[in-house]
Amino acid sequence: MAYQAKVVEAEIVSDNKQNGFFEIVAVLSDRNRCRISFERNPETGEAKATHINRLYTVPCGICKKDYLCYCLNRYMDVLGEQALEVAGVTKVS
Ligand SMILES: [Zn+2]
Repeated sequence: MAYQAKVVEAEIVSDNKQNGFFEIVAVLSDRNRCRISFERNPETGEAKATHINRLYTVPCGICKKDYLCYCLNRYMDVLGEQALEVAGVTKVS
């Protein structure tokens, strides 16, 4: 079955206006939390997810491990998009 977690909460936790990097901590509908790093294109202002890290609060929603795994990497783009939306970040500034 495909993984279908949704971002239900998202909060910007750091924002570096100088280099365009910022991070959002997102809570997923399966209670997983992850930190997603974004980079803004200096010319277009478009935000793009570059890294995703699961925070080890609950076992992974995909593989059920409670330690390091990289399952969410495959969903970085879709979760990144949702996190931007929930956090109220405009994709293009
Ligand atoms: Zn996993």
